[in-house]
Amino acid sequence: MKIAFVGLGNMGAPMARNLLRAGHALIVFDLIPAAVEGLGAAGAEGAHSPASAAHAAELVITMLPASPQVRAVYEGAEGILAGVAPGVPLIDSSTIDPQIARTLAAAAAAQGNPMADAPVSGGTGGAASGSLTFMVGAEASLFERIKPTLAAMGKSVVHCGGSGNGQVAKICNNLVLGISMLGVAEAMSLGVALGMDAKVLAGVINSSSGRCWSSDTYNPYPGVIDGAPAARGYTGGFGTDLMLKDLGLATDAAKQSRQSVAMAAVAQQLYQLWSARGGGQKDFSSIIEMLRHD
Ligand code: NAD
Repeated sequence: MKIAFVGLGNMGAPMARNLLRAGHALIVFDLIPAAVEGLGAAGAEGAHSPASAAHAAELVITMLPASPQVRAVYEGAEGILAGVAPGVPLIDSSTIDPQIARTLAAAAAAQGNPMADAPVSGGTGGAASGSLTFMVGAEASLFERIKPTLAAMGKSVVHCGGSGNGQVAKICNNLVLGISMLGVAEAMSLGVALGMDAKVLAGVINSSSGRCWSSDTYNPYPGVIDGAPAARGYTGGFGTDLMLKDLGLATDAAKQSRQSVAMAAVAQQLYQLWSARGGGQKDFSSIIEMLRHD
């Protein structure tokens, strides 16, 4: 299939590479020319705008930072909706506001393009190994149509319900992640400050009731897990500012539904502080640097 892929960052680039490996033809666009060139070296064709990428595509996938970029890439004068042929399905895998996902899907449907929200979980490691979880908000027929393509980038493709529900599932998952990372960062900092070896402590937590992804796969303490961002100065991975965005989506959605999310609100403030102190571009597990005093 000829697939347009827009947004070739920490997640989008490895996802696009997996589509190439699966035998699809790719036409790609990113604001950063080096990102387009990187995919070009792997066999993709480069485009000059989202509209031109979408023009001859049979399917369009986007992987962008947040709601404003997604709106610009779809609704701009040189955007996807201006260039895509009627009937071509659109998939946005960015994490954005569920209401904006629903509004965009309605605009796309009005011009004959079915649109799904399909945000992901699994981090950059999951993107590289093709083992992401896709949380899909779409009508059942669209879900069945796009599932095989998503399966080339993930091990689990879950239908969460109608438009926007993929985003609902994603922001709830990241609410847990943002809070659990802070818990693990606090526990690791405390244990080491009290004299424990970080690896031994992580091993105990990982075979006890404190075990979670933030501890056993993405532990924030350097030296505990070889492939985690903590082992490479918190580069790559999932930026603090992206986690801050996701907690903002959760607290905004909670306001709309009059639901209390007190833990998420505290976590949001702590990531806000870390971002203001210069940690915004680092992987979110770097928040441990704000807590550690050893
Ligand atoms: P990133 O910042 O690394 O990549 C985003 C890419 O989009 C960049 O290459 C940027 O140049 C490009 N871009 C921005 N505006 C653009 C525009 N107008 N036109 C074309 N390209 C544009 O972000 P990421 O880490 O790849 O995350 C992407 C999305 O996936 C976010 O919504 C994030 O919340 C979500 N997510 C990230 C992770 C992770 O571990 N990094 C995990 C799950 C979900």
